[in-house]
Amino acid sequence: ISSTAEEFDFFYLVQQWPGSFCDTWSGCCFPDTGKPAADFGIHGLWPNYAKCHSLHDDEGLAAGEHVGDVNAFFHSTSVGRRHGKNNKKKCWPEYCDDGNAALSPWEIRDLVASMETSWPTLSCKSSQSIEFWSYEWKKHGTCSNLGKHDYFARALALKAAYNLTAILAAAGIVPSATDTYSLSDVSNAIAKGTGFTANLECNRDADGEDQLFQVYQCVDRDGAQLIDCPVPMPTKCHGDQVKLPLF
Ligand code: 5GP
Ligand code: 5GP
Repeated sequence: ISSTAEEFDFFYLVQQWPGSFCDTWSGCCFPDTGKPAADFGIHGLWPNYAKCHSLHDDEGLAAGEHVGDVNAFFHSTSVGRRHGKNNKKKCWPEYCDDGNAALSPWEIRDLVASMETSWPTLSCKSSQSIEFWSYEWKKHGTCSNLGKHDYFARALALKAAYNLTAILAAAGIVPSATDTYSLSDVSNAIAKGTGFTANLECNRDADGEDQLFQVYQCVDRDGAQLIDCPVPMPTKCHGDQVKLPLF
């Protein structure tokens, strides 16, 4: 845990649909534990600011601090503004404690079996899911004000409490090679099934078709309870119809 408390506003619990990670142009690889179930898998638990902070050239970052930028400024209320080099925005903390960045499986040994089921890697860089978990801990977990064990345990508990695959299926939104679903139906199903609004991200399959890729559920600062998402997010969806591909 970093010595100074991080002042973020909420977490995103991000879950990825494995079919949508795998059917893109770049593809995927299965972990050494075998093909994961056709279920959403955890990507990460990410501390977030509700509003991005402007970073002027003269402001600089504290030592060891990194800027969460990329398309990050879209998460702020200043949608549509372009930001040049001199007007960067910091929308989340990351890499908060290099001294506490290493993760050993021993530290989460009682969670490893659930992690392998609920948080499997699909990356081709490594077939070992611990590499994925370590990266997520280092980048996001060190900013969470939680210890390693609590950080992973809370993400697992939240995922287990709301089975997104089942919630979507109950609304008739099931994996299919051909069917498409409206984004608002997906969004409403999640709000109804969990009690809270979430943000949705699309990507494109190898044929360029929009599909549901990740669900961003919002979580309180303790990593304990879902909340309604305080800010919208760019969906990266091009139309209103999305696929939920088979896996
Ligand atoms: P991408 O650019 O693919 O959306 O995101 C790349 C990486 O940036 C993510 O894997 C994540 O580590 C970080 N990231 C993207 N969006 C957010 C966000 O809203 N909050 C936080 N905390 N990290 C994000
Ligand atoms: P982020 O997008 O969180 O910054 O980066 C995720 C990192 O974890 C990338 O370096 C990616 O290669 C690695 N990674 C390992 N397994 C997975 C996975 O299943 N999904 C995603 N999105 N990234 C993974």
